[in-house]
Amino acid sequence: DGPLSEIDGAIEWLTKLETERQKRKLIMIPSESFAPESVRESLGSVFQNIYAEGYPNEESRSLSEEELLDYPSMLGDYRRNSDPRYYKGVDYIDILEALTRRRCAEAFANDRVSADDIQVNVQPLSGAPANNAIYHLINPGDTVLAMDLLHGGHLTHGSPVNRSGILYNIVHYTVDPDTDMLNYDEIQRLATEHKPRMIIAGYTSYPYIPDWKRYREIADSVGAYLFVDLAHIAGLAAAGVIESPVGYADVISFTTHKTISGPRGAVILTTDPKLAKIIDKAVFPGEQGGPHAHVFAALATSFKIAKTDQFKRYQQQILDNTQALIRQFQARGLKIAYHGSNSHMVLLDCKGIKGTDGTTLSGDIAARILDIVGIVLNRNTIPGDKSALKASGIRMGTPCITQIGLKEADMKEVADIIADVLFAIHPYSMPGAKGKLQRARIDFSVMEDCKIRVRNLCAQKRE
Ligand code: PLP
Repeated sequence: DGPLSEIDGAIEWLTKLETERQKRKLIMIPSESFAPESVRESLGSVFQNIYAEGYPNEESRSLSEEELLDYPSMLGDYRRNSDPRYYKGVDYIDILEALTRRRCAEAFANDRVSADDIQVNVQPLSGAPANNAIYHLINPGDTVLAMDLLHGGHLTHGSPVNRSGILYNIVHYTVDPDTDMLNYDEIQRLATEHKPRMIIAGYTSYPYIPDWKRYREIADSVGAYLFVDLAHIAGLAAAGVIESPVGYADVISFTTHKTISGPRGAVILTTDPKLAKIIDKAVFPGEQGGPHAHVFAALATSFKIAKTDQFKRYQQQILDNTQALIRQFQARGLKIAYHGSNSHMVLLDCKGIKGTDGTTLSGDIAARILDIVGIVLNRNTIPGDKSALKASGIRMGTPCITQIGLKEADMKEVADIIADVLFAIHPYSMPGAKGKLQRARIDFSVMEDCKIRVRNLCAQKRE
């Protein structure tokens, strides 16, 4: 045993490089965030060493944080029934998992639903496994109504290349071709026609907060479960800066590493104790083996942070920064996909940038050139695209740049750098082995100038 520097120089070196990359670049991937030091410390704890298949005793769900931490009473009271864990040595993990569930319930309680009424499963290893577990509420072959991947849905919402699309009869809704926005009347029409057993709301790249109440009404009208995939916007909902689906949805999943800024993982919430039992069985033993208890520790720390005023201010700033970005993009004449956003993310339509031979800029080339300058975002399909492989948009979000302390005034500069780079790209086409290959020339001086401007913004780190 010994420190990483002695045992494995290669990994130590790569970690240093990655640490430096995260400081040097403006990270604008909307699904990423910087986990606070305390969360990473919890993640590196000795809970990593333990196997703990099963769950804490059911009675622990109704205990407060103080009661859970009162260890002697835990032994006396809540461990008195038969032990629902398959392993011994779980004394402290039982407290840890119950505490994590409790803190999560408290972070998501709202005017409609109290923490006592929120049932939490913190074991899903990530967002996709959490969603797979939720499909256990229905049977293979059942109909599911969900957003198309090309318009902003996730792979697990019935993409043909994902097991959700292979095992279930998926009916996809899309955005309205006239408005590029969700059309709830059309979703209602599809629900009435196809009678789905489950309807999925919540997206990967559609930038507006869904109308949860309307989704509830649509689901009720056909007796479907409403499953909300809150992944991207869980932090915003916990902070109360957007309306929360808790109280509207039958079941909610969210990844814990996006706007929540916790460890990589996922959580499933429900307010229905009967569904909670099905979900618990679906996660273990249905989908997974031993849980990652060190992640519980980091989650517990994140949910504690999510209750602070500083977290709430951070989430509001994410929204304010996104609006400031959009304003400057519009001022610079860039085309905003979906016409705007009311969340943490915004997508740009790159097709407006054309070369002299008429070639339109692809999302891929735009994202690659912006990365060279120091702005990290991703290519993404936008309405009108026919294939995920030919995305004509770029998707970006404000969580990480907000965490480094940038505010609305800085967003003007961020948007200007992105605009200057995009307008300095001159795409053209060349014949290639598989049809036309897109290439681009770039104005060297603009690129170099923008690299310096990115470095200046990164150096401004204020909090
Ligand atoms: N659901 C949505 C809406 C997502 O955007 C994502 C990931 O980006 C997931 C689920 C899957 O999460 P993971 O990558 O942790 O499996």
